[in-house]
Amino acid sequence: MAPADQTRKAQTRQAMPDDTASRLLAWYDVHHRELPWRVSPREHASGVRPDPYRIWLSEVMLQQTTVEAVKSYFRAFVEKWPDVEALAAAPTEDVMKAWAGLGYYSRARNLKACADLVAARGGRFPDTEAGLRDLPGIGAYTSAAITAIAFDRPAAVVDGNVERVISRLFSITTPLSEAKAEIRAHVEAMVPAARPGDFAQAMMDLGATICTPRRPRCMLCPLRENCSAVVSGDPENFPVRLPKADKPQRRGAAFVAMREDGAILLRKRPEKGLLGGMTEVPTTAWTARVDGATTQAAAPFPGDWRSAGTITHVFTHFALELEVFHAHIKGDAPAGHFWSHAQEISGEALPTVMKKAIEAAIPGATKKQRPH
Ligand code: SF4
Repeated sequence: MAPADQTRKAQTRQAMPDDTASRLLAWYDVHHRELPWRVSPREHASGVRPDPYRIWLSEVMLQQTTVEAVKSYFRAFVEKWPDVEALAAAPTEDVMKAWAGLGYYSRARNLKACADLVAARGGRFPDTEAGLRDLPGIGAYTSAAITAIAFDRPAAVVDGNVERVISRLFSITTPLSEAKAEIRAHVEAMVPAARPGDFAQAMMDLGATICTPRRPRCMLCPLRENCSAVVSGDPENFPVRLPKADKPQRRGAAFVAMREDGAILLRKRPEKGLLGGMTEVPTTAWTARVDGATTQAAAPFPGDWRSAGTITHVFTHFALELEVFHAHIKGDAPAGHFWSHAQEISGEALPTVMKKAIEAAIPGATKKQRPH
């Protein structure tokens, strides 16, 4: 560790009374969330150890996705693929289909690549941050989370919840985007030698259930006596954020073609790039130009195209507005396209934006349909 880091660590130790971790762990023992991938503190104390496969899977799913949205996907994955070898043996296509709707699809491709590698190496995940970071799709945050939670080793696990708690505990006035190192140093100084995995999960739970973005429940907080923001009277002022720039807007058109029997015409997106390898209805290019080709005149093949309205979807770097057109088409699928039967649509690897487009044209089409 660099001398400056050591000094900072020593300073943060002085600033934070030593009972922070023990207060937090005592609160966690009683108030922890029940999560399908989690070993509870009681189970942990009785010797149950987390399965690194389940912790890894949940942490990859939780990148950019909420706990509530992840739960059902996690259960479906572990039911289908109970261990890393089973996931490695699955066709990539099936994994992409099971992932459809969770968003940020490069995560699914990395998930599969990581499973392949770990299975080829004997099925054991590395138990250090450095070893984990060498695997596809595992960055600084995820490696720290797996190290702490799966292997109960000290690691500074800093997600958005933890950033908020620390910003408030220490009334950090530096804008969040520039305060990352400062926050990390505080967390490093707080991680206890005993139960570092439970400590990491306790911090997350505190941020998710008590120290919430709006109206934190300070009266119920185990760290109230250690918190400088609560003294200021308005903890919501932390973390300090710079004003957000508006997202650029792009436009395009989507074409939902249906056959007489209800099948919908689909194609696969290129492997590389946004939504790579996922399935879509034919669309125009998504352009920032207001005069872009976004009318039925841009349809990839002739048909009785009628407007089915407009849908919007917000990606990380831009907001998309798609004009949706609907037509009935007869005959074979054009080159590069395929017909997906009405009963199969819900199982296709359709990202949310494409489900929205199909639903605009044919309400209910992407929901699971019972065979007649
Ligand atoms: S006292 Fe309030 S602001 Fe401070 S950590 Fe607890 S919930 Fe957050």
